[in-house]
Amino acid sequence: MSDRTAGTVYLIGAGPGAADLLTVRAARLLAEADIVFHDALVPGDILALAPRAEKVAVGKRCGKHATAQAFINKRLVDAARKHRVVVRLKGGDPMLFGRAQEEIDALRAARIRHELVPGVTAALAAAADLGVSLTRRGLSRNVAFATPRVGEGERASDWAAALAHADTAAVYMGAGDAAAITAALVARGKPASLPVVAVENASLPEGRRWYTTLAQLPRLAEESFTGPVVLLLGEVFGEAIGEAQAVADFRQRRTQA
Ligand code: SAH
Repeated sequence: MSDRTAGTVYLIGAGPGAADLLTVRAARLLAEADIVFHDALVPGDILALAPRAEKVAVGKRCGKHATAQAFINKRLVDAARKHRVVVRLKGGDPMLFGRAQEEIDALRAARIRHELVPGVTAALAAAADLGVSLTRRGLSRNVAFATPRVGEGERASDWAAALAHADTAAVYMGAGDAAAITAALVARGKPASLPVVAVENASLPEGRRWYTTLAQLPRLAEESFTGPVVLLLGEVFGEAIGEAQAVADFRQRRTQA
């Protein structure tokens, strides 16, 4: 039984950044919200959709400590005892690399009503920006969502095996581990020429992308990124890389001429 005297907590996916990629349901709940707890990455124009709400910045970019998470859990429970509509807004989709389970478990334990609202995850926004299907027929029949990052006290994950087995892979929070990704995948037999696209700030006007290969990824990662980046790996990106190369060659010839 849930606590009938308390409000409801909505764990909502804010999407990759562009405000108009929010779901209609998310926008409606934001408009009704009394209080919004949001991640650092959630942009101001999305928060502006909650004009009535008190806004509280919580999550860190990554590597959040267990104690900080416990504190967020407690604040959600406390807020539900004071307010009718409590929103927890997370970047992308809450169920992918978003620590949603800790919050769901805490709300369940406290018998607070809660609902999940999905959002557009970074990898899918990036695929849309590129105009490349992650499951292009003939080249890919599966997609792995993976991260090399593991939090404090978590069991190690065999992310390299997951990436090596996937036809297409999306790597979250992976830019800092580019050298390890390349080394691990080459060791597992992936070609050094495997197409890789790095997409920064997917869905946003300031978004940038780099077309490269597994071998060249570490150098790119050292020099280039300033915002959140999702790395996409797989043969499905081969054609896009070929086109990007052709454009670059054309520009170079033109400046030389
Ligand atoms: N729940 C989120 C992921 C949170 S983990 C989702 O579903 O998208 C944070 C990581 O997501 C970043 O390190 C980056 O890898 C990726 N990310 C989030 N927003 C992004 C964006 N707009 N463009 C590219 N990558 C993004």
